[in-house]
Amino acid sequence: MLSYDEYQSKAAGLSFRNQCWIDGAFVPAVSGETFAAINPATGKKLTDVARGSAADIDRAVASARAAFEDGRWSRKTPGERKEVLLRLAQLIRDNLTELALLDTLDMGKPISETVNVDVPGSAMFFQWHAEAVDKLYDEIAPTGGRDVAMVRRMPLGVVGAVVPWNFPLDMATWKLAPALATGNSVVLKPAEQSPLSALFLAELAKEAGLPDGVLNVVPGFGEDAGQALGRHPDVDCLVFTGSTAVGKLFQRYAGESNMKQVWLETGGKSPNLIFADADLDKAADMAAFGIFFNQGEVCSANSRLLVQKDIAEVFIAKLKTRAEAIKQGDPLDPETTMGAMVDAQHATRVASYLAVGKEDARLVTGGNRITIGSSDAFVQPTIFADVPAHSRIVREEIFGPVLAVQTFDTDEDALALANDTEFGLAASIWTADLSRAMDLSDRLNVGTVSVNTVDALSPMTPFGGVKQSGFGRDLSIHSFDKYTALKTIWVKY
Ligand code: NAD
Repeated sequence: MLSYDEYQSKAAGLSFRNQCWIDGAFVPAVSGETFAAINPATGKKLTDVARGSAADIDRAVASARAAFEDGRWSRKTPGERKEVLLRLAQLIRDNLTELALLDTLDMGKPISETVNVDVPGSAMFFQWHAEAVDKLYDEIAPTGGRDVAMVRRMPLGVVGAVVPWNFPLDMATWKLAPALATGNSVVLKPAEQSPLSALFLAELAKEAGLPDGVLNVVPGFGEDAGQALGRHPDVDCLVFTGSTAVGKLFQRYAGESNMKQVWLETGGKSPNLIFADADLDKAADMAAFGIFFNQGEVCSANSRLLVQKDIAEVFIAKLKTRAEAIKQGDPLDPETTMGAMVDAQHATRVASYLAVGKEDARLVTGGNRITIGSSDAFVQPTIFADVPAHSRIVREEIFGPVLAVQTFDTDEDALALANDTEFGLAASIWTADLSRAMDLSDRLNVGTVSVNTVDALSPMTPFGGVKQSGFGRDLSIHSFDKYTALKTIWVKY
């Protein structure tokens, strides 16, 4: 890590890529319009970014289609694609500080996290998918006789990717790495709150040897650029990470246009179950991490804490100590452990839930939106206890540093509370009893269960949800399923 002074001076010297990236070059939006990229930790403008809309999406899709059809990438061997993506992974590592600064400035998360988590993560995900793709074998069906029936994985064509702002570089990477590794062309629409790292990434991909047109990035707003991509008749597949409400819109866009495949990673309200026999100090450390990491702006944040009654007050006290030790401040300060909310509008939304919590439940700590420096986009780490099951703070995704604590007596009570939600992304269980952990893991209706940890995640394991947390999986070998179609080629001889 560099010092606070060094990050400040490097931030001041950054030059931002702020136009659409189409066909291997930066171009202004067709309309000439721009929007301001704001640093939420200061409220100040970083740069004006091209505001892409339907006309820019058309150009980007045409470029992606041409690249796909002439085979400049789609018909390269997996080994050749691997080499390019491995070079990209290395370029991401070589540009660690700049990429980290872009995400920290654009969306307000601490520099210690972008340097140690987001940027190394992006490099690792590209590397992992690059290395995996030339180890995937196709199949021969067991037909016997004078027939050979091959089952081959083919790239889909043009993939549209629409991603959120909470891990700007990583959410883009989770889509791009498997989509590009399997030979597709991609049009990426980053979130309007955080377009800057994706635009730099596109330039790095060209430097790594990705042919022009294979990756296009159109910054812009959801309702115009995002919708245009979702409705585009020449997009074969739309992959999305974001809110449940917008995920449902993409299903509608597909149904009303060309029936493109749609894969959704959406919201969550993930429960963290703490049993009396758990290692309570470790559980408290990780429960605090599970809700407060990244300002709570994490789809799989452990935002509901379910704790066994006998230990509830002891455990809440431990959590309170940890919440109060969090250092909020300028995200460029390496000592800061919680930054700003992504923007003032989101801070207002999160603060509205603080008001609901104060009505419905017992405030343990935090509970305020605060001003630091020139920005009021900060929210204190907040814990509410005695939260009734009907409260909106336990039913709705807040996407901020707000924990709702409920208590239970038995395993069955815990399970019923945990599954009583429209979401199904993740859950955590803390217990020394392996049989209980396995039995509950089987019955929790979620995509990932972490036992004696929280938010377990790796490029080796699939990530995604059930119910209204979406469907389809990012990461792991299984992520390739979203970006390929099985083709049967049957030869008689
Ligand atoms: P969002 O749904 O508002 O925006 C996500 C993306 O969709 C952005 O690029 C946005 O521009 C675009 N969009 C918005 N409105 C649109 C519209 N009408 N048509 C087309 N596109 C539109 O979500 P957000 O606020 O950026 O991110 C927070 C949400 O993302 C949370 O709900 C969180 O749980 C979810 N998320 C899920 C995962 C996961 O893997 N399940 C991971 C990270 C975030």
